[in-house]
Formats: sequence, structure tokens, C-alpha cells
Amino acid sequence: MNRSLLGVIFCLSLFCATGLGQSAPCTVSDHTEYSKKIKEFTTEPVFSTELVDHLPSSSCVPAPDAFLHHIIGAPDVLDYTKDINAYMRLLASKSPRVKVWSIGKSEEGREMLVVAVSDESNLAKLDRYKEITARLADPRGLSETDAQKLIGEGKPIYWADGSIHSPETGAPEMLMELAYRLAVEDTPFIQKIRKDSIVLITPIVEVDGHDRMVDIYMQHKKHPDQAPYPLVWWGHYVAHDNNRDNLGMSLALSRNMLKTFLDWHPTVMHDLHESVPYLYIMTGTGPYNAWLDPIVISEWQEMAYHEIEEMTKRGVIGVWTHGFYDGWAPNYLLSIANNHNSIGRFYETFGNGGADTRVRTLRPADTSREWFRPNPPLAKVKWSARNNINMQESAILFGMNNLAGNGQKFLNNFYLKSKRAVEKARTEGPAAWVFPSDDARLGEQARFLNLLQEQGVEIHRTEKEIRLPATGEIKAEAPGKAAGARPAQDKSDAKEDKKPAETVILAGSYMVRMDQPYSRLADMILDTQYYSSRDPRSYDDTGWTLGALRNVKTMRAMDTAVLDAPMKKVGKLEPAGAIDGTGKTFLIQHNTDNTLATLRFRLAGTPMEAAEDAFEADGIKFKAGTFVLKNADRAALEKAAKDLGLKVHATNEDIKVSTHPLAAPRVGIVHNWQNTQNDGWFRVAFEEQKVPYTYVADTWLRETQDLRAKLDVIILPPMGGGGPAGLSAMLRGLPMRGKPMPWKNSDDTPNFTAPGLDSTDDIRGGLGYQGLANLERFVREGGLLIAVQTSASLPVAAGMTDMVNVADARTMQAPGSVVLSSVDDKKSPITYGYDDKLYIYFRQGPVITVGGIGGGPGGGGGPEEGPGARSSGRGSASDPDVIQGRKYAAPEKPVKRSPREQELYVPEDLAEAARWALPPADQQPRVVLRFAAEKELLLSGMITGGNEIAEKPAVVDVPHGKGHVVLFANNPMWRNETTGSFFLVFNAIMNYDHLDAGRSAMVQGPTATAAAGDEEQQD
Ligand SMILES: [Zn+2]
Repeated sequence: MNRSLLGVIFCLSLFCATGLGQSAPCTVSDHTEYSKKIKEFTTEPVFSTELVDHLPSSSCVPAPDAFLHHIIGAPDVLDYTKDINAYMRLLASKSPRVKVWSIGKSEEGREMLVVAVSDESNLAKLDRYKEITARLADPRGLSETDAQKLIGEGKPIYWADGSIHSPETGAPEMLMELAYRLAVEDTPFIQKIRKDSIVLITPIVEVDGHDRMVDIYMQHKKHPDQAPYPLVWWGHYVAHDNNRDNLGMSLALSRNMLKTFLDWHPTVMHDLHESVPYLYIMTGTGPYNAWLDPIVISEWQEMAYHEIEEMTKRGVIGVWTHGFYDGWAPNYLLSIANNHNSIGRFYETFGNGGADTRVRTLRPADTSREWFRPNPPLAKVKWSARNNINMQESAILFGMNNLAGNGQKFLNNFYLKSKRAVEKARTEGPAAWVFPSDDARLGEQARFLNLLQEQGVEIHRTEKEIRLPATGEIKAEAPGKAAGARPAQDKSDAKEDKKPAETVILAGSYMVRMDQPYSRLADMILDTQYYSSRDPRSYDDTGWTLGALRNVKTMRAMDTAVLDAPMKKVGKLEPAGAIDGTGKTFLIQHNTDNTLATLRFRLAGTPMEAAEDAFEADGIKFKAGTFVLKNADRAALEKAAKDLGLKVHATNEDIKVSTHPLAAPRVGIVHNWQNTQNDGWFRVAFEEQKVPYTYVADTWLRETQDLRAKLDVIILPPMGGGGPAGLSAMLRGLPMRGKPMPWKNSDDTPNFTAPGLDSTDDIRGGLGYQGLANLERFVREGGLLIAVQTSASLPVAAGMTDMVNVADARTMQAPGSVVLSSVDDKKSPITYGYDDKLYIYFRQGPVITVGGIGGGPGGGGGPEEGPGARSSGRGSASDPDVIQGRKYAAPEKPVKRSPREQELYVPEDLAEAARWALPPADQQPRVVLRFAAEKELLLSGMITGGNEIAEKPAVVDVPHGKGHVVLFANNPMWRNETTGSFFLVFNAIMNYDHLDAGRSAMVQGPTATAAAGDEEQQD
């Protein structure tokens, strides 16, 4: 083992390196030993093809086994990132047909690579080919003749990438063999790929998670008697959702891949996944993303069916398409290609979560014969890692050969798609998207525009006011009416005709023109989405309108006249920050710009206060929540304001408004030891805003009795599945069986933890009853517990939230949508800085109700109306019910109450006992944010049965002892897309010890009339 490794190193440093330059030609023969093992590790011939049932041996270039000491797809072994990268570099050092370069590092410092494989002559001209695809990507000013010349000269680029999902371990191995095979094999089939295309390979996308997965797999191989470890963290922040980051772009891997894409403009980008048997080739069920050029939809089908046909012709079983995924959301890794006029696609092959050989029994759903799966997988089969390798490698070789063989066509399609994207402004429209200059949140606006620029979208700034005839062609989009495009109304005849004569776009507004190559990407991000409930169940979020989720105003402009207005292209935007005015008191308007949270924690030692009401100073109106700094150090504040783009006003006025201190508290974000992900998006949000937190485990909550001594705020991101089962999983955690399971780096597990992740002596046992008791005590002693979405059931079920109930939706379907909410309590510190309305991300539940005892009858939403409300009887549905044998008396008109009034309504004839069960007024829940009425609820995506959450609480603040529990039905920190709702969390945190500010009495306490309850009904 050591001898051959030494051999390689020796070879690297001396003979072989010099040998390359010598004239002795490399010879290629069959690598008999390797080929024999391929056959041995393939369980059935129907899981292989002639492309991969052997491996050539080169006299110059080391085959994978020479370096790794095992063949690719050997059982029971996986390789680390450093070894895979080292092998790729070895290939590059030995073969003139291979080049390797770094595309950046992961959060934990591991390197991501691109390996280019092509003919020597192509590699020598790589820069020229890169220039050609770049020119075709932006065909503005390119004549048709010149375009066709470039297409004739160019080479299509096929970019294959492996293992974005860490338990899917086959691709990194396969891609080593593929790189080697492409570099050395001399069949006409392989020569064609080398000669007529450029292959790029990124062996591992999620390099951090890959190494943790290898740790877990190899550790268990060494200690089969011990319980296997769960893959607690994949990447540094999130697990599977690393493949949903193409809208938020918050992970290093997304940025590295996007940057590489925009550098090379690959014709095809191909992600290699593993889940369903045996080889699913992506096309999808639809609905397809409606903003893409239809050409790419054909390309998906054409490429998929070519590979299916070639595999099926060779007798390979279980290669299929269509099902599994939809093709709607633009947030996947492959969306990078599709959103930029290239072809993004993926495979799912059958993996065993490692390199085991095992008998696999399939569900009937996976083996049924369907129109899209005429040759389905077998009900039972012995499956090996090599089978997985054979399937991926064969099929992707057919794909690469197809691209190489039709390079001109695919390059021409790419050019056409780019050209049609530029034409979009004047054909299908809109002409542009406008970001008005009077947005109250210019910092968030700038960051959003920078994100678009990172995606390759050009941004312009208008130089003059633009007036357009208001023919309904410009429409204010989320959030709410964009005042920057205010209709210029003629006040004199306003009463006669409210129709605006003109639409005004203020000077200094930003413009995303749709006559640019990536117009489709910008349009699909900024537009609203309609997902029909008749369509197949969605694979992921159905709505994502980022202007709304980021609480930044956008306007869709249809009038192409906007394109002719004077404007200048801008670069990265740096919102200007400064202090104006003089005086000892500094005022910062609260506009929910997230850098306000950064400021609070950056100047943690500087006393800051929050204004509890709106007020005026120096003739300027300030909103409730305004930061008030008395006698602060002007220089330090000025530096911070400049860095963070914040506007500060200094005044000598005596500020009369009541204030309370704004805290910079100790925050804990909780994770468990089964799996992490949603907490990762909270960590991303906190880290981007530089708000410090401690990352704590459920087991730590169990072991730490005096939590209040350590923390002020504890955040439970969505964990488990909600409901009793989710609660049970949270309490139990991993079973307390066997030996303690430490989560620490060791010789066997060198990659388990990294700075920013957590470690422990034992990951078993979950929160436990003691953890729950510790949490309750924490709140009772003055802490704030924030429980989000599925985690909301924990404090509710544990009795910490009087008058509140949470339940799963009964029939509602809300598979990830953008919905409208309204601020229900403008005095609550949690809503400081917000306008009346806010778009939020909502997914399925929970449904929170408030009222009565335990969120009971009070929350019911008032008396029933409409059809079905009356008893069967005479007349029609709307006729009165006339009861026979007595004189007719009209029923009392039901009292109309708002949702808030209904929640707090206490029937006068309530039993005395029930009245005493009501908490006193200062301990009652406070609905902070409420879902809109059903007809206004949905902005983007799909909701059916939305009446279940319509007008129900979205965010509720419940006092408990000296502390508070704040429940979220929405997820305010989702995939770094919902930056507009981040401040609901930041406000709660910074006001954690003053959440009762502005509280008005709701239901009166035990001395007055009180609320309804179950007891009443049992009387
Ligand atoms: Zn996957």
C-alpha cells in the first residue's frame, strides 16, 4: 500500500514529470487487473455498458487505482476531498489533456476544483474558447455573420459536478475515473468528446460535507459494532438545502459555482445526485419555470431521451425520465445554467449512502411500468457502488458525446436564447423592472441590486425623472404600492376621475432593463408566481418573489419608452451613510434595514434606546422604534454609519418621547444532533448581519439547569415535524442505547467539527424532560424564547403560552408561498420600523389561534355565515327558520367582530370558574402580525384552503413569568431570501426585556367579565 503511494510521489517528482516532455509516445493498453475488478464489482451485466466495463492503462498517466489503491466503485471505501483533488492534480501533471484550477474555498477552507479535459490543442486555446462563449452569451452588437463565425469556431462546454449532497457519494469517485478515461482512452467515441468539446469537472461541490460523510462511513467500517453516526452537518450551514441557494446566494459553494459559470458560460451544467433507482434523467413533470426560453425545455427532453435510448439499447434496466421533480423553482444549483440561457440538468442514480453492496427491495411506486418508465427497475436486486458508477458514467458519456457531436447546434441554441433574452424587453416584456429611489429601505435595496449584479444582471440608474402615460402599463408590485411610481394626479378633478394621467419614475431610481442577456433571470426573480392547484404537487417552493420577501419596492414597467430614458450603468452599490445635524442626541430612523441590527451589536457597549412612539425632532418625523443615542461618541458612530450605510440625525432637541433601552443580548440558536438545516439559515442570517450568537445543542439545554445565567434569548428554528410526533422526537433525540457517542474530531473522524460548529461528549438523549423544564425556567426568569414554525408546538404543549393553541392545517395546502400579513399591534417592539403590511414566506403551518382558554373558542373567527349556516327547513338558504307551534321571533343579529375582537371576546354569561382561569391582562398573548384575509392572502405560489390561516395570527408574543415566548407561524429567516422579515427576529431580540412596551389592555383580568372555555360547555 505504502510502496505504490511512494511510487506515485517519486514518479511525480522525477522521471514521469520529465518524461512528459520527452518524445517517447505514451502507450495505451487494457488495464486488465482494473477491468477484472469492474466486472467483479458489477452485480449484473444489465447495470453496465461497453463504455465503462473496462479501463485503459496508459504508460504516462496513472490510473485511479495507482493513486487510491482501489478501483473506482470498489466496495467499502470512499475517498476524502484532499485525495480526490490530489488525484486530479496528478492527472493534470501527467496528461497534456488535463488542466486543473481552484474555483474557491468552502466555509471550512476546503478547495473546490475545476478539471478541464480536452485535446491538447483545445486546452492550448482555452482562453479563446472562453472568449467565444462569453461573446455568444452577450450577443448585443454582434452581427449574425459574426455570430455564426464564432459558433463555427467555438467548442461546446460540458460541466459535470458531483456530490452537492453529501450522502450521495458515488459521483466524486466516478468523476475521477471519467477524467482519467477522457484523458487516455482512444476509442473514436471518447476521441470525439475530446476533439469537439471541452469537459469541465467539479468532482465535489459540497467539500465540507463530503469529508464529514467519509468520516462517518469509514468510522463505521472500522467499528461495525457501534451505532453509526448521523450526518449532523453536511455543509457548514445547511444540508440538502445547499441545492436551494441560488436565490439567496449565501453559501460559498453557490458563489464559487456561479462565478465559474459566468467565467466559462458552459453549454451544459450537469449535477450528479443519488436517490431513486436506477437512473433518473431530469426532465420533470412540469409545471416548468414559465420565464425560461422554450428552447431549453426541448433541450432537456432531447438530451434525456438520447441518453435513455442509448442506455436502453444496450439492455440497461431502469433508465427513465419525467417524474420525480417538477422544473418550477429557480433555486437549484442547475438553475445557474438554466437562468443564464444554458442547459442545467441532473441525474439521480441509485446509491447506497456509501460504498456498500446490499440487496435492495423497492417499493411498487419505484417499479411500476409507466409511459415515462417503460423499462422500470426490478423489485429486488443486489446493488453495488460499482453499479452506480457504471450507470452515471455511461449515461453522462452519452450526454457528452451528444453535445460534442452536435456542438454547432447547441452553441447556436445558446446564442439564440441569449439573443431572445435581449429581445424580451420589446417582445414579451416587461420592458424593465424599476427600483424607485424613494424606497424607505435603501440599504436593503442596494444589497438586493448587488445580489442581482452578482448573478450577472446589469443595473442602471435613471438620471432624470421619467413621466410615462399611465395606461395601466406600469404596475406597482410588492411590497404594496411603490410610491416612486406615484400617479401624477390632477387634484382639481380628482373627484370626477381618479385615473392618474401619468406615472412618474423618480430620478435616481434603479432600472433592470429587460434588453440584456439575463433578463429572464431578473424577471423570474422579481415577478409574481402563479402555481395552479391542478398541477402536480410541487417539488419545492411555489412562490419566491424576492422584492416582496426582501421588503424592497419593485415596479414592473411594460412601456418600452422607459428604455429610452437617460440612465447610466452602475457597479456595486454602497449605500451612503452619514451623520447630519449637530447635537448630543443621535436619532436613527427605524426602517428595518438589517444593518441596524449590525449597528446595535457592533456598538454593543454604547447605550441605545428605542422610541416607543412616533415623534418629531428638528421638523423631521421619526417612527416608533427610532434608535435614540444620548451622548454617544460621534466619531465612532459616524464610522459605523458610513460602514453600514446608515443615516443618522444629530439634534440638540430634548426628545420627549418615552423610550426604553435597546439591548445587545446573548442569543442562543438551537440545533439537535439528528440533522441540522433550518438552524443553518438562521446562522447565515445572523452571521451576515454580524449579530453574535452561541450555537447550542438540545442536549446542552438539557444539561444546563440555569440557562438564564448563560443566555438572554433562545431561538428554536423549525425542528422536527411539528405536532405530537415532532415534539416526541425533540424530547427523545437519539436513543440512549449503547455507549456515549462523542461528536468531536478524532483520528477516525478528523472532519466532524470546525470553528462555528458544535461538539459534545455525547449526542444522545435530545432535549429530554429536564431540557424542557430548563427552558420553562429560563422564560419564567426573564428570558425570551423564540419558537418558529414546527417548533412552536414545544412551548405551547409545554404550557408556557396561556390562551394560545397551535394545530396542523386540516386541508390547507401551502407548499412554500409568499403571503401578505398586516401589523396587528403597531406598538409592539417586534413591529418597530415596519409599515402596515409585510409579505412573508409561509409553508404549510402551523395554524396559531389565540383566545379563550388555551386558544380555544375565542379564536374561532365569529359566527358562521353563508350556505350551510342554517338548519334544514322551509324556504331557501337565506330565509329565516320558522319553528312550528310557536310564535316566530327573529333571531338576534350576530355581532360582527374583527379577528382581534373575536379572539378577545368574553361571553358575559361565562361561568365564574372559567373567568378565573384567564390570565391577568398583562400576561395575555399579543398578536403582533396577522395573515391577511383570504382574498388578499396570496402574492406568489399556491395556497388552497387558505381560509385556515386567513386573518389568523402569524406572530404572537406571549408573556410567561418574567419572560416571553414569541411564536412564528411563518419562517422569518428562510434560505436568505426573506431578508424583509429578518427584523421581526432582530426586534424581538433587541427588545427582549421590554416586549411589554406599548401593551394595551386586551381582555380584562379576573375581576371583569372573562373568557370562554371547555368547562363552560360541560356545564
Ligand atoms: Zn441530491
